[in-house]
Amino acid sequence: MHKGRLFVISGPSGAGKGTICKEILENENIRLSVSMTTREPRAGEMHGVNYFFVNEEEFKRIIEERGFLEYAQVYGNYYGTPKMEVMDMMNDGIDVVLEIDIQGALQIKEAYPEAVFIFILPPSMAELRKRITGRGSETEESLERRLGETLKEISYIDKYDYCVINGELKEAVDRVAAIIMAEHSRVSED
Ligand code: 5GP
Repeated sequence: MHKGRLFVISGPSGAGKGTICKEILENENIRLSVSMTTREPRAGEMHGVNYFFVNEEEFKRIIEERGFLEYAQVYGNYYGTPKMEVMDMMNDGIDVVLEIDIQGALQIKEAYPEAVFIFILPPSMAELRKRITGRGSETEESLERRLGETLKEISYIDKYDYCVINGELKEAVDRVAAIIMAEHSRVSED
């Protein structure tokens, strides 16, 4: 059986990665890895669906047990990809998408260079600011911090295989779907 492929999707917080992933999951035969985090749940977020919400002690225990495929500290909180679930899905021939930050993507690139790396960009910084403010979950300080991080993140864009600008959602979703489809036709290098 063909092993599942690994797709890594990154981009600034508020670029619309989550919304794009949701659409992709509904239409493509691919699963999203549910990450673990120490950050507080936002309104409407559910344990086991959006994230596994754990405390720092639990997160550090899993780091020690080498239970993460990758992990990073983002905006003062820990985020990590549980290793077992992803490996099991890929061994079952299922494609998996990781929605993770750049630090995590670089770790995956080291360990799994054959993964496919997609960077999602907002159409402009002004639009990004509007989208994050619209969520209503950020203070002025954390908004500024996220925007500052964005500029840093964009400087890593050349580590990615593809860049998709999310101006109009449907077009961005179609582009990501096209990338996934193209990868299914890739001639294996091994
Ligand atoms: P948020 O708090 O907005 O849900 O996510 C903040 C950032 O953490 C986003 O850039 C998101 O992609 C990233 N992130 C979410 N899960 C993971 C993970 O498992 N590993 C890493 N490295 N980053 C993650």
